[in-house]
Amino acid sequence: MRPEVLFPVFAPISRLPGIGPRLEKLLEKPVGKHVIDLVWHLPASLIDRRNRPKIAQTVDGEIATLEVDVGTHIPSRNKRLPYRVHVSDETGEMPLIFFRARPDYLTKVLPEGARRIISGRVDYYQGDPQMPHPDHIVAPENAAEMPLIEPVYPLTAGVTLKVMAKAVRGALDLVPDLPEWQEPNWLAKQNYPSWKEALGTAHAPESAADLEPGISARSRLAYDELLANQLALGLVRTRMRSRAGRETRGDGKLRSQVLSSLPFKLTNAQMMALAEIDGDMAANKRMLRLLQGDVGSGKTAVALMAMLNAVETGAQGAMMAPTEILARQHAASLGPLCEAVGVRLEVLTGRDKGKKREALLADLESGAIHILIGTHAIFEGDVAFKDLALAVVDEQHRFGVHQRLQLSAKGGIPADVLVMTATPIPRTLSLTVYGDMDVTRLTEKPAGRQPIDTRALPNSRLDEVVNGIGRAITSGARAYWVCPLVEESEHLDVAAAEDRAAALKAEFGDKVGLIHGRMKSAEKDAVMARFQSGEISILVATTVIEVGVDVPEATIMVIEHAERFGLSQLHQLRGRVGRGSGKSSCLLLYQTPLGETAKARINILRETEDGFRIAEEDLKLRGAGEVLGTRQSGLPEFRLADPVAHADLLATAHDDTRLILETDPMLQTERGKALRTLLYLFERDEAIRYLESG
Ligand code: ADP
Ligand code: MG
Repeated sequence: MRPEVLFPVFAPISRLPGIGPRLEKLLEKPVGKHVIDLVWHLPASLIDRRNRPKIAQTVDGEIATLEVDVGTHIPSRNKRLPYRVHVSDETGEMPLIFFRARPDYLTKVLPEGARRIISGRVDYYQGDPQMPHPDHIVAPENAAEMPLIEPVYPLTAGVTLKVMAKAVRGALDLVPDLPEWQEPNWLAKQNYPSWKEALGTAHAPESAADLEPGISARSRLAYDELLANQLALGLVRTRMRSRAGRETRGDGKLRSQVLSSLPFKLTNAQMMALAEIDGDMAANKRMLRLLQGDVGSGKTAVALMAMLNAVETGAQGAMMAPTEILARQHAASLGPLCEAVGVRLEVLTGRDKGKKREALLADLESGAIHILIGTHAIFEGDVAFKDLALAVVDEQHRFGVHQRLQLSAKGGIPADVLVMTATPIPRTLSLTVYGDMDVTRLTEKPAGRQPIDTRALPNSRLDEVVNGIGRAITSGARAYWVCPLVEESEHLDVAAAEDRAAALKAEFGDKVGLIHGRMKSAEKDAVMARFQSGEISILVATTVIEVGVDVPEATIMVIEHAERFGLSQLHQLRGRVGRGSGKSSCLLLYQTPLGETAKARINILRETEDGFRIAEEDLKLRGAGEVLGTRQSGLPEFRLADPVAHADLLATAHDDTRLILETDPMLQTERGKALRTLLYLFERDEAIRYLESG
């Protein structure tokens, strides 16, 4: 249960003065629902109003605060002309300009003959100063009301700075004093203020330097967040490790049968990964291993071998994929291999309902099903295994820690967990996602793969590309054609893909198929199956195919508007080809003129296929904030910390966590209790719940 002292900051933001239902809705996406979300909403810049010139000394474009006498009002004669109010001081006069003004309001705040302090940006028009829409107008006796330095918050359409600033102030008023969760010596050494003080300072910058991530107030807050992240991961890990694991030692019979039916031999990297996994599974502690391998490195085969190891001992294996397409694809490729050796593999997704689902669940519980593949539907409460020995999570970065745990908590003795990811997350970031899981890397790709010929072409050469594809499909090739996300709108996104598919259909008829996120899963399956079988030669797609789709016969990847994709995304997409022994190519179509960053991205992609190098470059180009900020990636979103700018702090938080959990594993000391509050503050409730569940 969240401690009572935090109730005020976890109240809905509509509880704050000035925030009604309209603002609540506007703020929900960019900021959040709770008061605490506004507390974490730090200013991005500031407006300095300390410049106090006379009218004659003002400089074009500068923010100025002036004390003036209000002169005549000149109302606008028609809607397009501004309302003007003349003001003056001993050095000259200038007009204040208001478009779409409310005259009654202006006569109230700027009565003729009165003295006022005004602040805003001065604009020179034909050599003379004017001030359009002053930010502040106050009477001299109320001068204190006007902030001389004003924090500027990231805004969103429909929310003005004034409204945002007021909301944040209201939120800060509700911030309680909390017991210190940081080590006093460390605080002193770093010269860190208390949490509450740090918030006050971070929200009241006095100069641009105060906005740097390295200043003590901001580092303190970042460190709090990183510690909460590491502690949550650490707790989960300790809890998972503290219970005895099961010893799984298959006799290798099923495995060798399946291996001999594969059209290829495992690579050395795959065999080494398996050896590590076998060792973990055989040990009397729980496996918690991350298998990191670039796209196409053959992680699925490793997972199958590991699951067979479990089945050989009479237990079960499960594999969870992030999408329905992937779950079904795995089932389709692994199913026949299993069936041939008498292993029953089934697939369960959200689509399976009613009688069919019931029958599946019954067979799972009786042990008749040996391997279950599915989406997160396999977490649902009524899904029970007879004896789950191994849980594999594929493309794990789309799932949270919580889901990983749920899966492994199924069955009596906790199952071993193997997490597979294709996203080569650099070390700095992987700490934030995986804590210190054991890591195996597949460093080698299956032999016989040829480099993918990657080319960039301006959109104006689209016709050439279409002709080229036409020739290629006549000689049996298969191609993906990816259309990008259009301005965050799934709707337009789909429309673009539909248009492209229609245009290609006009050329190539029913050789063209279309797949996108808005289609029903059954439709998606059908299209995928037709592409797999070669009935369709060109598959027009939105980014739904980004992760994991495997059609080794496909050798051409066209990416339209490549400039709109991130580097890692382009790499993932390109990884859909070059999976068989055929020569593959990737065509990046871009819109001219190409910006610097987009140019750099495309160049890196042409230079290398090394996922790790690409991920590092991606980080450099985008900054961690953005890499981590994408919700869809499933990476944790940091609101205060930047794991690159704060890399040292991350490492310290990691070490600190280890120390804390060694000395106070149940977080029961004074500091431990304060740390629980920290976890609640950063909404890592599930980590505590896990601790409390005993
Ligand atoms: P990923 O690591 O991206 O999940 P997959 O497991 O989908 O990669 O494997 C990519 C392709 O490589 C598949 O078609 C798979 O059958 C094939 N493959 C896997 N291991 C080998 C191997 N040792 N030799 C040749 N091909 C392999
Ligand atoms: Mg895969």
